[in-house]
Amino acid sequence: MLSMATAALASPHLAPLPPFLPRTPTEHLAAQLCCPQCHGEMRELADSGGWQCYPCGVTAARHGEQIRCGGFTAGDVKSDWLNRVKESAKRILGSKYQWAIDQISPVYTGFLGRRIKSYLKSFALDRELVADLGSGPLRHDPRVICCDGMNYDSVNLVTDLERLPLRSESLDGVISVAVLEHVTDPRAHAAEMFRVLKPGGRVLCFIPFLQGYHASPYDYQRFTISGMRQLFDKFEIVAVEPGAGPTSGLLWIFQEWLAMVLSLGIRPLYKLLMPLTYVLSPLKYLDVALRHHPAAANIDSGFVIEARKPVAELDSETMLPFPRGRIRSCSTGVPGA
Ligand SMILES: [Zn+2]
Repeated sequence: MLSMATAALASPHLAPLPPFLPRTPTEHLAAQLCCPQCHGEMRELADSGGWQCYPCGVTAARHGEQIRCGGFTAGDVKSDWLNRVKESAKRILGSKYQWAIDQISPVYTGFLGRRIKSYLKSFALDRELVADLGSGPLRHDPRVICCDGMNYDSVNLVTDLERLPLRSESLDGVISVAVLEHVTDPRAHAAEMFRVLKPGGRVLCFIPFLQGYHASPYDYQRFTISGMRQLFDKFEIVAVEPGAGPTSGLLWIFQEWLAMVLSLGIRPLYKLLMPLTYVLSPLKYLDVALRHHPAAANIDSGFVIEARKPVAELDSETMLPFPRGRIRSCSTGVPGA
């Protein structure tokens, strides 16, 4: 008696099998690996279970459900005192770290969380590949490929985000939440997103605008709405929205200011007072209403952009612009913003 799978293969009348049988995110990932330098083939090493690009000498290693090809060093992690505290908390709390941060943080992330959920629901995750670039210890869905510079247990690919070891046009979707401020070259990272997305593939990206300095393990820049549009100028913009509201923008900076003033210039006292200022954090819930204010974007804590890689790429001969999607954004009350 034929098994169901054999019968399906044998009969020309049955529906075709899906493009790939269900596998783990790491197995999907292994099939899409390439050299992060030359984008050439990474050859599988028979004895070690890893991969190597022979011309470049770049290697990738598999550790259980994790593939490592680059990433941060121990020296990077220790470069900032607050980051050392955060790293310890992330290791101890794992997936509960984000929940804990959501409670004590001055930033209200309720609508950002809902936006990520609705974005993921728009993909058929059983057959479409979506990667979270800079996932930290958080996993939004078991089928999402988690990529990060740190080797948290939940991470499938430990790598440098500005040079991804992924084939061009290998992903259907990309998530990037509070990551672009931490990469040295955000344009290079956005270009990598563009490269690894299939034509028609989409990215959902949250970038802070008004937030205090927070190394993870470094912190380089902030973006306005106009800056985000500029950063994703090769994409079709689907939507630009507030990701965290104006009270969140104010509170983080006010808490830093308060700890600074009350510490009278004594650094250990500042470190002690900073967590105490979190008592003001519940004020962030005012953003449930204030995010709708027409001028909110002037001091929003951060913005979310959803953008699509055009199906037809730029024609270098005619230099025709990309076809633009409908732009949905909040009004800032500032001309040209
Ligand atoms: Zn190479």
